[in-house]
Amino acid sequence: MVAAFSDPIWRKPQAAPAFRSELPSGGTLDAVIIGGGIMGLSTALHAARAGLSVQVLDAGAIGQGASGLNGGQVIPGLKYDPDWLIEHFGKERGEALVEFAASTADAVFDVIRDEKLAVPFTRNGWIQAAHTETALTAAANRDRQWRSRGADVELLDQAGIAAMTGAKGYFGGWLDRRAGVIDPLSYTLELARVGLAAGARITEQQRVVKLSKDADVWRISTQGGAELRARSVVLATNAYTDGLLPGLAQTIVPLHSFQIATAPLPAELAAGILPGGQAVSDSRRILVYYRRSPDGRMVLGGRGGMALPSSAADWAHCERALIRLYPALAGIAIEKRWFGRVALTPDHLPHLHEPEKGLLAVVGCQGRGVGLMSALGKRMASYLASGDARQLPFPLSPIKPIPFHAFRQVGVAAAITWYRVLDAFER
Ligand SMILES: Cc1cc2nc3c(=O)[nH]c(=O)nc-3n(C[C@H](O)[C@H](O)[C@H](O)COP(=O)(O)OP(=O)(O)OC[C@H]3O[C@@H](n4cnc5c(N)ncnc54)[C@H](O)[C@@H]3O)c2cc1C
Repeated sequence: MVAAFSDPIWRKPQAAPAFRSELPSGGTLDAVIIGGGIMGLSTALHAARAGLSVQVLDAGAIGQGASGLNGGQVIPGLKYDPDWLIEHFGKERGEALVEFAASTADAVFDVIRDEKLAVPFTRNGWIQAAHTETALTAAANRDRQWRSRGADVELLDQAGIAAMTGAKGYFGGWLDRRAGVIDPLSYTLELARVGLAAGARITEQQRVVKLSKDADVWRISTQGGAELRARSVVLATNAYTDGLLPGLAQTIVPLHSFQIATAPLPAELAAGILPGGQAVSDSRRILVYYRRSPDGRMVLGGRGGMALPSSAADWAHCERALIRLYPALAGIAIEKRWFGRVALTPDHLPHLHEPEKGLLAVVGCQGRGVGLMSALGKRMASYLASGDARQLPFPLSPIKPIPFHAFRQVGVAAAITWYRVLDAFER
């Protein structure tokens, strides 16, 4: 019998390192960071490097959230292209945002190099594959905007994308050489290791259940009864946001993203599939994303709804997509199935909040947070160290719950089904 879901392929048979810093029994820290994913750990590392005293608390184990479960595609940019960002945010903020968006993959590869992280990676680019002529026109527009800014990008024609991916059915695509792939769990655990070495404290199995303020100092209470004091608190809980900060969970729509991994491919099949080691996301409304793993598997993911999966059938949409793209893989065993949560916001941008002085929250990874959260963590650390909000690429905004949030999730589930139908017709 096939297990309904498994550990991600990134989980190694040997036990993961434990992060159990002793909680401080007195004194006031510069910052307590709630959530030990890429966002929390990147903030902690850079804040510790800036000389701040920081404590990371995670409700579970480091790497159990989206950061250790994802596809490991390190993609620069935001959902929006440079021209839109400048039109929407104005020249000064918009240009700064374009520069930030361009830098998010660097934030990952720079930290791997500078901190000597033991993380398997390849930096050969990411392909956005166009499944319609309209998508190819959008890709050409994106290519023009980034190329005019000096980015190392290229528009691919039908023959070009077929040669690079070996996949069926694309009209062309867009190659962004700034991007790459990593082992996301190694990256998360390594961020924690170097954060600890830099002086940050990191403690797992510490769910924060209450925040209160005493003059200018925040009190952070955990489920286990510990109480910490800090000048700043950063909620880095993203799609796993609970009710700790009233209204925050209602500002995002958390969705599940499902992934499958095949058995390692036989050499004769492997040779024609992504020979350059790029990652791919396609242009469908309900996109699929895929890559090869260092041990020669094909790894493919796609969005699902909010319901928890109950059997292998819940990954059937991923298996269908794999065979549609690579018919030769029919019959290759699917060895792993896993899932995690991503957080969407209605405007498809990450949201930064500071509802009270020293209380910060970041949500909304839009399913593309490996680079984004690495870069945002670095900026958040600069803000903590300087108090200068210009360090943050996005404006601090009020917490605005989505109207009819509970019903919204039902709506999203219906929309996913409808978009899948539309995608199928455009094939
Ligand atoms: C299946 C999947 C595939 C993906 N693929 C990609 C990809 O290929 N490329 C890409 O760029 N992005 C991808 N993403 C998105 C990416 O993984 C996320 O954007 C990113 O990891 C978010 O990092 P984070 O630190 O903000 O959140 P997380 O890593 O989710 O960490 C949040 C943490 O907060 C903790 N927490 C919550 N509440 C509390 C509390 N009260 N007290 C203490 N701790 C708490 C949780 O335990 C959790 O560990 C994918 C996501 C999924 C799920």
